[in-house]
Amino acid sequence: MHPHSYRFCPHCGHSLKTERLGGQPRERCETCGFVHWGDFTVGVGGVLWHQGKILLVQRAQNPGQGMWTIPGGYVEQGERIEDAIIREIREETHLETKALSLIGVRDRPGEDGRPHDLYVIFLMCYLSGEPTSDENEIADLGFFTPDETRNMPIASLTLSMLEVAAAPLPGFEPVSGVKMIGNLSQLYRCLSWDKLG
Ligand SMILES: [Zn+2]
Repeated sequence: MHPHSYRFCPHCGHSLKTERLGGQPRERCETCGFVHWGDFTVGVGGVLWHQGKILLVQRAQNPGQGMWTIPGGYVEQGERIEDAIIREIREETHLETKALSLIGVRDRPGEDGRPHDLYVIFLMCYLSGEPTSDENEIADLGFFTPDETRNMPIASLTLSMLEVAAAPLPGFEPVSGVKMIGNLSQLYRCLSWDKLG
C-alpha cells in the first residue's frame, strides 16, 4: 500500500484514476501520464576520521535531540549523494571534506504511512577548515577519540558505523562511460582487486 493517495495530479491538476501497474493499484493521470509510484526519501551520513579522532555532532532538534551522531541530512532533488554529504558536512560543521568510500546503507521501508527512506553512509576524508557549528541544527560538535566517545549518548547507527570505519576498506570509485538514464546519474562501484593492491 502507498503511504499517501492523491486525488489530483500534482503536475497538471487533473483527476487521477486508479490503475493496476506493475502488479499494484496506483494512481495515474490520463492527461499527462504521471504515475504515483510511491514516496521515497534519501539521506546521507558521513564518518570523518581525522588525526585519530572522529567527528560527531550533537543534534539540537528532534528527532534525536541531545544525541551525538555523524553529520548528515537529506539529499536535495537533482543532487548526487556524494555532493550531498559534502554539502551537509559543510553546512553543519564548516569543514571541507571528500568522500572516500561507501560504508553502509540503512534501508527503512515505509511503514505506518511514512515514506520509504534510504540512508547512505560514506567514509569521508578531511580537506580543510576548523569545526564550527551552524547553531541551528547542531548544539555542539567536535573531534573525539574512541575513548572519549564511550560515555557520550551516541546513536546506535553511528556507533555501528564507527566500528566499520575503523577496519580496512575496499573503497569505491565513480565510473564514467556507462550509459545511464539522466544527465546527473552516477554509477559508483567498489574498487577492483588490482586497484587495491
Ligand atoms: Zn497530470
